[in-house]
Amino acid sequence: MIAGITGQDGGYLAKFLLEKGYRVIGLYRRGATDTFCKLKEHGILEQIELIDFDLLEFSNICRLIHIHKPDEFYNLAAQSFVAASWNEPIYTVQADGVGVLYILEAIRQFSPQTRLYQASTSEMFGKVQETPQTERTPFYPRSPYGVAKLMAHWMCVNYRESFGVFACSGILFNHESPMRGKEFVTRKITHHFARLATGQTMDPLELGNLNAKRDWGFAGDYVEMMWLMLQQDKPDTYVIATGETHPIRDFVEEAGKTCGFDIEWQGSGTDEIGVDRKTGKTLVRVNPRFYRPAEVELLIGSPKKAEEELGWKPKTSYRELCRMMMQSDLDRAKKGLL
Ligand code: NAP
Ligand code: GDP
Repeated sequence: MIAGITGQDGGYLAKFLLEKGYRVIGLYRRGATDTFCKLKEHGILEQIELIDFDLLEFSNICRLIHIHKPDEFYNLAAQSFVAASWNEPIYTVQADGVGVLYILEAIRQFSPQTRLYQASTSEMFGKVQETPQTERTPFYPRSPYGVAKLMAHWMCVNYRESFGVFACSGILFNHESPMRGKEFVTRKITHHFARLATGQTMDPLELGNLNAKRDWGFAGDYVEMMWLMLQQDKPDTYVIATGETHPIRDFVEEAGKTCGFDIEWQGSGTDEIGVDRKTGKTLVRVNPRFYRPAEVELLIGSPKKAEEELGWKPKTSYRELCRMMMQSDLDRAKKGLL
């Protein structure tokens, strides 16, 4: 059972589990528009049993877990966009914090043998207390999203210790793919550059803090870890990361190269611009609208425990990831799909 089946990770995980021969039940939020485009692009929509679900509806969560008693429950559902969490802090805490407690409680009461994967996040480290971040690094969340996810993380630990629920917490660092939502910075960059490169827009890309650093991995590599955690003898917490970090401006430059842009930075602060050396055209500018009330400046995780205990290593390099995402958006743009 996968909650959040329509999101980036939901599609990759469903594909991975279907290839292993799993029966997959996908939980999705019913809406007025078609939310299954990612599952269609993966070519797996027809193989998934779809059921309505909302993190805020405890009665439905209880009913689903009671009836289906899934062997494995992957909770990927969340209000996942950090920037939105300052505008919707109460909803974010209800969905990303209390919603997870609903799932834990339903498992405890109706299906104690169900193994739960909870999508925790490096945002819980926030204002980082040590570098690189490990399973033992103290938390210091910097957004309502980070705080809500931290509550969910501790609830998993607590239900594990109090009631023996098999609840694993995967502290995943940023992971991206061609299926990433367009509001996240990597996909925002590749989406806009593809439109610039194919003449669909002349407007420069507007970004916020270019200096924040992220440890970016490929979502397709990370879903294997979600599954591996649930195959262990005991539930535990694992950091999943690449161990490499890059500033946003580096991703801009790298994505630009795949489009034939040669970006040079000029000016500083809110006046900084990214100019194409070949044409002199301004491709990027800073818009303070995209600054955050409190920033997470640096994330870099240590995947040592996952490597040692689960035998896992990320397969896709940072540069391969940039190229993959940029190429995919260029292909979409050429087909008129952006
Ligand atoms: P995503 O693309 O934003 O997908 C989130 C999913 O949650 C979507 O299917 C969404 O449904 C669903 N959802 C949102 N609110 C819901 C609600 N109230 N009830 C039921 N479903 C709801 O996120 P992702 O990148 O796949 O990430 C998966 C999980 O990992 C999330 O929990 C995220 O917070 C966490 N995480 C992500 C990263 C990362 O870098 N990607 C890193 C660490 C942790 P709709 O399609 O209807 O919106
Ligand atoms: P997050 O790490 O989960 O918040 O993932 P995002 O992709 O949304 O943001 C990663 C980093 O990029 C954060 O430090 C943002 O402040 C920074 N950033 C800079 N400009 C932008 C922008 O225009 N949009 C987004 N989403 N992030 C930006």
